[in-house]
Amino acid sequence: MIKENNDINRKVELLIKEQLEGWDLAHKNFGALENAHERIVSLGEHIQVILQHNPERIRSTTAKTDIHNIPDESLCFLCQANRPVQQLSVPYPGNIEILVNPYPIFRKHLTIVSKTHTPQSIRGHFETMLSLANDLWSFSVFYNGPACGASAPMHFHFQAGDKYYMPVEREFELQDGDVLIQTNNSRLIALDNYLRKVLVLRGNNAQELSRIFKQILGVLEKLMPGETEPMLNIICCRAPKEWRTFIFPRGSHRPSQFFLEGTNQILLSPAAVEMGGVVSCPRAEDFEKLDSKLITDIFKQVSVSNPLWESIKTSITQSEWK
Ligand SMILES: [Zn+2]
Repeated sequence: MIKENNDINRKVELLIKEQLEGWDLAHKNFGALENAHERIVSLGEHIQVILQHNPERIRSTTAKTDIHNIPDESLCFLCQANRPVQQLSVPYPGNIEILVNPYPIFRKHLTIVSKTHTPQSIRGHFETMLSLANDLWSFSVFYNGPACGASAPMHFHFQAGDKYYMPVEREFELQDGDVLIQTNNSRLIALDNYLRKVLVLRGNNAQELSRIFKQILGVLEKLMPGETEPMLNIICCRAPKEWRTFIFPRGSHRPSQFFLEGTNQILLSPAAVEMGGVVSCPRAEDFEKLDSKLITDIFKQVSVSNPLWESIKTSITQSEWK
């Protein structure tokens, strides 16, 4: 049984209203987003991408994400001591605070942070993600791994934005998929032809979903060994009768075009929102230049390769679920 917590959602909606009125930076950047240019690019049948020209996102797009080179606690912008005094928060159980993100992609955009300075990692936090998606029922909650999109890999956080704005949340039901797991309460589907590789986990039993997620993470850890956790992005939202979780295992953080020079360069660092189908471009030239061919190529580059994808699917189906 899924119960929503109207109180938290209401408090957060009020927080947004208050911050947009009383915090200059939020007022300015959310106002600019209202007038941001957007266009839809069709990549195929029932596959669309929303392109957004969003100059304020340049910091996170070009952030230095080398985990050996990150600032310490005294410079961390998610630590309470370093946040602007105008930035208010709503407390959430489990040592968490909900803040307004002053550099929005969504009309309602939150950063959800741990009260303590602890590294970004999804292990042990997936249950919290389900709980947040449940309580923040007008939002989708998302997670960027420390090596693929988190702008503060040294401080644990989620983000959240308007539910159903990201195309994947609407399009996934229209895609062909391989059913990898099916129980009375849960279903895990692999979308093969969605131009980026995604595992869709849906169900209404939080405990079982958490157990399946742990198994998926175990498979990814085995097949994608890295310095930290396997590269991945996750989006989670709550539909009336189930949670829907979209897991994107990643092959690389940035496409080759990011590192080119001159007119061939495209400043794009795909994270959960981009994998979900909202591509935010800080530079006007990239916003103009991106078309279905380039976006398809970028999705392919930053997703896992076909052979690895097949191994992931096989290992998941061979895992023991009980
Ligand atoms: Zn911190």
